[in-house]
Amino acid sequence: MLQRFFATLRMTENKELEGELLQMEIKVLKDILDANEQIAERNRQLLDSNSVFAVNLMSTPGAGKTSLILQTLKELKGETKIGVIEGDVSSSLDAEVIGKEGVPVIQINTGGECHLDANMLSSALNALPLQDIGLLLIENVGNLVCPAEFALGENKKVLISSIPEGDDKPFKYPLMFHTVDAVLINKIDLLPYLKFDTAVFSQVIKGINEKVEIFQISCATGQGIEQWVSWLQSQMNQRYGG
Ligand code: MG
Ligand code: ZN
Repeated sequence: MLQRFFATLRMTENKELEGELLQMEIKVLKDILDANEQIAERNRQLLDSNSVFAVNLMSTPGAGKTSLILQTLKELKGETKIGVIEGDVSSSLDAEVIGKEGVPVIQINTGGECHLDANMLSSALNALPLQDIGLLLIENVGNLVCPAEFALGENKKVLISSIPEGDDKPFKYPLMFHTVDAVLINKIDLLPYLKFDTAVFSQVIKGINEKVEIFQISCATGQGIEQWVSWLQSQMNQRYGG
């Protein structure tokens, strides 16, 4: 939103003024991200002092964030206490679906903002029974651009990429693919019907981010969910012990 505002301001005939406005824009954006980082650090400490492992789930709209949360809840039921934060531009549809599973869920409506930030997460954390939670799943707003820039204080960032989106996304959103710890290729059951080269896709991602973990999953058939969940458990164990 802010970037659009500055871009409009910069549409001037005066080159010198345009340059000054661009410098100003860069400074404002940097200040916003610095302030966000400070709040994210406080969230990190709060989560840590309650031994909560937090995962920031990001994707385009419709890639399967809510479905993945449901599958993960099913797989870990009785083993790990899970809390969920649902970020949405408006509506509480996803939060209602998750709420039926009997886990604590907090809805964040961003009021038009296209990403969650550390401040929004901080309010949601205050509303959750953190002492009773071992794993916190955070559904970010469906968007591959700014969620990559705003740290929340999470332990891991996870991207869900789905087969219908096509295999060109790492070229279009390199920062997102660079910043995440794992990429889940969802809707793998649709592979026979759509053009998507998983080998090339994985190779390109590894070129951007050599340490990333890649899983092929289907929230519809359950394929690959076990592997995803066991990776998640191993990450939690590394952080807080088994
Ligand atoms: Mg959703
Ligand atoms: Zn945004």
